[in-house]
Amino acid sequence: MKPFDIVIVGGGGAGLYAAMEAMKTNPSLNIAVLSKVYPNRSHTSAAQGGANAALANKAKDDTVELHIFDTIKGSDYLADQDAVDILCSEAPKIIRELDNIGTPWSRLDDNTIAQRPFGGAGRPRCCYCADKTGHTILQTLYEQCLKKGVFFFNEYFVLNLSVNDSRMKGLVAMNIKTGKIEAFPARTVVFATGGYAKMYWNRSSNAAGNTGDGQAIAYRAGIPLKDMEFVQFHPTGLRKSGLLVTEGARGEGGYLVNMDGERFMSRYAPEKMELGPRDLVARSIETEILQGRGFDSPAGKYVHLDLTHLGADLIKSRLPQIREMSMYFEGVDPIEEPIPVRPTAHYSMGGIDTDNDGRTVMDGVYAAGECACVSVHGANRLGGNSLLDILVFGRIAGRTAAEEARKFEPAPITADEISQTEAMLRSYMRPSGHFERYGTLREELGQTLGMNVGIFREASKIRKGVQDLKDLQERFTHVRVFDTGDVYNTNLLQVLELKNMLDLAETVAEGALAREESRGSHTRTDFPQRDDGKWHKHTLATLEGGSVKLGEKPVTMGRYELQERTY
Ligand SMILES: Cc1cc2nc3c(=O)[nH]c(=O)nc-3n(C[C@H](O)[C@H](O)[C@H](O)COP(=O)(O)OP(=O)(O)OC[C@H]3O[C@@H](n4cnc5c(N)ncnc54)[C@H](O)[C@@H]3O)c2cc1C
Repeated sequence: MKPFDIVIVGGGGAGLYAAMEAMKTNPSLNIAVLSKVYPNRSHTSAAQGGANAALANKAKDDTVELHIFDTIKGSDYLADQDAVDILCSEAPKIIRELDNIGTPWSRLDDNTIAQRPFGGAGRPRCCYCADKTGHTILQTLYEQCLKKGVFFFNEYFVLNLSVNDSRMKGLVAMNIKTGKIEAFPARTVVFATGGYAKMYWNRSSNAAGNTGDGQAIAYRAGIPLKDMEFVQFHPTGLRKSGLLVTEGARGEGGYLVNMDGERFMSRYAPEKMELGPRDLVARSIETEILQGRGFDSPAGKYVHLDLTHLGADLIKSRLPQIREMSMYFEGVDPIEEPIPVRPTAHYSMGGIDTDNDGRTVMDGVYAAGECACVSVHGANRLGGNSLLDILVFGRIAGRTAAEEARKFEPAPITADEISQTEAMLRSYMRPSGHFERYGTLREELGQTLGMNVGIFREASKIRKGVQDLKDLQERFTHVRVFDTGDVYNTNLLQVLELKNMLDLAETVAEGALAREESRGSHTRTDFPQRDDGKWHKHTLATLEGGSVKLGEKPVTMGRYELQERTY
């Protein structure tokens, strides 16, 4: 195949914005997007609640500066303040740009873009399209990319970066439809592969494909991962499935209620109540349950999210998808009855370490979106800031790659590399001998993470998690792919995704063990305080000699000094 100037891995919001911006920056470039799912099915399409921007449509006194402060405080002061400046200053422009190219934002009576309150935010600044915001953004971006002439390789699974003597030459990927291994030589590669919260398999709001492939590929190629221990648990997952009930439901006025009929958030966040930041609300729900004030059922313990007082009209117009999902997955109509909810693994704050322009340490390799860590979310992301992150930094990474692509000369990917990859894949189809099943290993991975590296963490449990992961890695060497066919071999894909999750889970657990403090989403019951003296820094995980090596990186400070975080 002829070399591309830019190959973007991922057709979610970050990847598509990067592609659109790269085309705009230099229309003569040859740009491809590779995606393991059809782009419109990327996890971005599941985003319900909205994207933050200080447009001051709803609260006239909102400002970019207030948005910056909320984000830094929300991050428990671990976000890099220069990156947060970029995120929040670009927000109003990017929301209007999306409006101009066709995103159907919900409107206020004066026809300006509607905004709703969201957790941890001082003003109602979350812009939304009912409760289908991600879906509409993704449709808009996909149309624009097609119009501008981006090449799409849909249903291609990227396996690895091709690197020779620290020089990146492109990618090796599998055509899922045919099983053929193909080389994609490229001057530059942008990873936009989304998050890794699906590793908490048994209780996660994420799409099945959120297995952290890009992070794992980068990590194995020697690129450091930052702050991997920070995994966000969203307060309100549906009791049975862990599927998400958007924070917008509380933004519209929903209450959290325990078994005694009490709005218990008054104990934990007397001012913000249900609109406290996610880490705090998730911990509060878990504490209620652990202290015996939750409801019990064969499908697990839970609390109530009560929307009944909002009335049928509001629920039908602003939260239609939530109503549908509650009826379908819990048999509960939120107009009539409260929804049973419990926290669910939701978002990865950690990811591929990049600078503010999307560059990684490897020449020609960039990253943006949930797979990257710039870092704007620090130890805890605010709701509505991730859609914003993928748009703002997707655009920046696309622009940087477009400006720099021609600096790098293309180099061929050899036939040897392809045959080595083919041999590696065939080795999973071992015909006989002792073997392990993918499903069993995946289930155990989810269980050990949930039990030992979940919302509440402590040294002895995390150590157990680390040991379990080592055992799972060993057992993985015996995994067998039963489907030996070429066409849509989903069994093989799942095994490859499992390997990615296992490698990343080790970085999460090792980071969690090392960080002896509680900050944002990372709560150590044995170190309940934030320890700025020792731990006001990012962790960097690299792969050395087959295991995780932890380094560190300073946090970029700015106008805001460290403060105690109360709500
Ligand atoms: C249920 C839910 C609701 C959410 N709601 C909100 C919200 O209201 N507001 C908000 O700000 N945030 C929200 N978030 C978070 C936000 O939606 C995500 O962080 C964001 O959409 C991620 O976008 P992305 O482009 O980085 O990745 P994704 O949209 O996840 O896209 C990843 C892409 O990478 C591709 N890919 C991955 N691995 C490979 C591979 N090996 N080979 C080829 N392609 C690959 C996939 O095919 C896909 O196209 C929500 C998240 C969830 C799960």
